[in-house]
Amino acid sequence: MTLKVCKFGGTSMADGIAMTAVKKIIESDEKRKFIVVSAPGKRFNGDIKVTDLLYSCYDELSKKGDCSAAFANVRKRFESIVKELNIEMDITSVLDETEKRINAEKSSDFTASRGEYLSARVMAQLLGAKFIDSEDVVFFKEDGQLDGVKTYKAISAAVADAEKAVFPGFYGKGANGKVKTFSRGGSDISGAIVARAVNASVYENWTDVSGFLACDPRIVDNPKKIKNLSYKELRELSYMGANVLHSESIFPVRKANIPIVIKNTFRPEDEGTAILPISQYKPDGTVVTGIAGKKNFTVILIEKNHMNTEIGFIRKVLSVLEREGVSIEHIPSGIDTMSVVVDSEEIQGYKLEQVIEGIRNEVDPDVIRVMENVALIATVGHGMSSSIGTSARLFKAMAEANINAKMIDQGSSELNIIVGVKNEDCEKCIAAIYHEFFG
Ligand code: ADP
Ligand code: ASP
Ligand code: MG
Repeated sequence: MTLKVCKFGGTSMADGIAMTAVKKIIESDEKRKFIVVSAPGKRFNGDIKVTDLLYSCYDELSKKGDCSAAFANVRKRFESIVKELNIEMDITSVLDETEKRINAEKSSDFTASRGEYLSARVMAQLLGAKFIDSEDVVFFKEDGQLDGVKTYKAISAAVADAEKAVFPGFYGKGANGKVKTFSRGGSDISGAIVARAVNASVYENWTDVSGFLACDPRIVDNPKKIKNLSYKELRELSYMGANVLHSESIFPVRKANIPIVIKNTFRPEDEGTAILPISQYKPDGTVVTGIAGKKNFTVILIEKNHMNTEIGFIRKVLSVLEREGVSIEHIPSGIDTMSVVVDSEEIQGYKLEQVIEGIRNEVDPDVIRVMENVALIATVGHGMSSSIGTSARLFKAMAEANINAKMIDQGSSELNIIVGVKNEDCEKCIAAIYHEFFG
């Protein structure tokens, strides 16, 4: 039988009503056998996600040696969920054990992982499904990367006797034997890992929007839904801030050509977005597929006459960043200029000064300038390579909105155009580009 792996995000786990909607979705299709869940998210504007409550628990634990005051909030959330669901479950004992283990482990990752652990325990009980603890089946290597071979084997073995199973997302076991989490939003990766391990026919990612939208719905009202997206477009958009899906989640499924479908838990009848390998991707005729943006980059601009003829110039510049352990996002370059774009967090304080000093010593530039607080906006789409005038339209839209492009980088694949603008122009710029291409 074809199998579906379903990942449910924070809003889908937020309270008893949402979890009941999840149960209905799972039970409406017998192919939905393996479920991955997030920690309960926000129930309303201003509410706090359980994962954030847990990070506060860890803060309290570090300061006071135990986390009872902050953990009381986590306790309340789960007690009220179980009460709303009206299931037979001794949640108090599970919470007591969890609190004890948090205090004993004294680890930020372990503490943060308990939101997923607890919601998976509750979901398994609600569905009458097997609970499979991700710390027993998801493994990281010494370098922090997923140990795919070991993980896929362990998951296959664990599901062999299960009619239905629920996994907590977001964490696994590190090479040191301790619980380790992915980065924030990482339950999407866990879902992809399970989909790969069981060779699912589809990875359904259930969230609170009816698909991948052409831009962030918090920036533009009701943006157009993207019907289908290639893995590459997804990677570009999610990496650049479209955090409806974690940018790392395509890696496990890509190798096995498993499509991802984004669906809305609260409007399950809506079609959603399919994310497909390029071989199955059907362009819908639009020039631009989507737009996303991310703030807080630092651009180091280097000018030197005849830079292009100076052999090894770029290598020398990059060697400085390598020495300082700074990873690079983009390197737009011209004849006598090059820029290096880095995430500002990578290069805070004295590190920036060291890099500048290093570049001065290494290549003796005519000018070296630093721009901070830069946002990068990516306009993405396979359709861009075959239509003339895309960048002209993009820059016209920016000019009309009175936004200055501080940096431009067009990927060699012609899949994206990236512009750097001031942080405070980020949203305005996304909206301007959106309206230009989507009306
Ligand atoms: P979950 O808890 O289900 O994982 P997330 O909050 O991580 O949900 O992701 C869903 C949210 O992503 C949406 O509510 C929306 O506000 C935001 N979002 C940002 N960019 C986009 C986009 N391009 N398309 C859809 N949603 C987006
Ligand atoms: N609960 C985790 C977070 O808030 C992981 C996830 O939701 O995907 O980041
Ligand atoms: Mg998410």
